[in-house]
Amino acid sequence: MFLLPSTPLWDTSPPLKSSYDAVLIGGGLHSLATAYYLARDHGMTNVAILERRFIGYGGAGRNTAIVRANQRTQENVPLYQEALDLWPVLTRELDYNLMFYNCGNLNLCHSEAAVTAARMNIASAQFQGVGSEFLAPADVKRMVPALDVSDRPRHPIHGAMFHPPGGIVRHDAVVWGLAKGASEQGIHIHQQTEVTGIRAVDGKIQGVETSRGTINSPRVLLSAGGYSAGLSHRFLGVRLPISPLTIQAMVTQPLKPLLNHVVSSGAYHVYCNQTLKGEIATGAHMDPWPNYTTQTTAHYLKHQAEALTDILPCLRGVRFMRHWAGLADMTPDMAPIIDGNDPVEGYYLNCGWGYFGFKSCTSTGKYVAQYLATGERPEILEPFRLSRYKQHRLMGETAGAISYTPWN
Ligand SMILES: Cc1cc2nc3c(=O)[nH]c(=O)nc-3n(C[C@H](O)[C@H](O)[C@H](O)COP(=O)(O)OP(=O)(O)OC[C@H]3O[C@@H](n4cnc5c(N)ncnc54)[C@H](O)[C@@H]3O)c2cc1C
Repeated sequence: MFLLPSTPLWDTSPPLKSSYDAVLIGGGLHSLATAYYLARDHGMTNVAILERRFIGYGGAGRNTAIVRANQRTQENVPLYQEALDLWPVLTRELDYNLMFYNCGNLNLCHSEAAVTAARMNIASAQFQGVGSEFLAPADVKRMVPALDVSDRPRHPIHGAMFHPPGGIVRHDAVVWGLAKGASEQGIHIHQQTEVTGIRAVDGKIQGVETSRGTINSPRVLLSAGGYSAGLSHRFLGVRLPISPLTIQAMVTQPLKPLLNHVVSSGAYHVYCNQTLKGEIATGAHMDPWPNYTTQTTAHYLKHQAEALTDILPCLRGVRFMRHWAGLADMTPDMAPIIDGNDPVEGYYLNCGWGYFGFKSCTSTGKYVAQYLATGERPEILEPFRLSRYKQHRLMGETAGAISYTPWN
């Protein structure tokens, strides 16, 4: 009989103190990474992570684990690129296997217009030092033999943008590894502890109210994923231009290896990769209206089955085993809000990551930790200020995803 180790990876019941040097709201990727680097780089260990359910409950444990660095803009690429480089480093540092699988990402093009757009993306990626190249249909077929590159599919494949440095990382391992690393250095991780209010007097943060009592702290970081905008408005009256949008994903039954890369298609609105267990993990659908539901829909199962089997016909008859949903905290320009001391001193924000927040959590955590510890904004975070929306200086990470923004 096998026995699971009885010692948890991190301290699951530290004492709840009445005061901390910093309080991080949310037990997701960004709080965990920030806490880890606060301790490692700045010796700040009198820090609490407050999570209303359990760590990894939000997008951290629901995402499809895709990592890459070929974002569109010069402001965003450096964070994503550094994060890609950090996976193997952190695996060693945390002494915990994060299971980085550097399989590369293949973005399919289904029209000549898409090919032209991909070529522009490749040129700007290369200009920023990010590995990206164009593949003709025959090369796509060589790379992923299961793809149908004939003219039978509804949207025939005209080529692809290949990004070799990307891939997938095991998301649970990232949550557990960072929790282990933070806790070993003395950070307190309090699960089942809901933040019910943020206290500020004369424009300065004083601490938080929680379901387990009051905690004093001069610094509060809001990293509550899809819940961030609601909490910020409710607790401090600070409005954030973030729409919580439901995003769904699912996995098939386990199959023999057939997909060695992450494959995505804008025209079919689908992406997929094969997990180390052999399941095809697939997603992409996001409800176009803001809501907080994490319910799945039968409609999406049908869409996903039709889209996947049109480009990967060998998946016909394969069963979906699990289907889930989570919240994406989407901003009008699909770039995050990372800010501090505006409009309340000691109030820091790291949210609005949409469906990109897994891939960059480690590098961002490192810089947010520096910001919290020193009070000085690192240069790399400069473009992500909240005020950019009021100044109409949106970033170019998206073109038309702004119709649902509640910002006014
Ligand atoms: C289906 C799906 C697929 C995705 N795929 C990818 C992908 O392939 N690649 C990628 O890069 N990103 C992906 N993402 C996005 C990514 O998961 C998120 O951007 C990321 O998890 C955000 O991290 P976070 O720490 O900001 O928030 P989260 O991980 O969501 O954590 C926020 C935490 O705050 C807690 N909380 C909320 N309110 C309170 C409160 N009042 N008090 C205390 N705690 C509170 C929540 O319980 C939650 O645990 C996906 C997301 C989803 C849902």
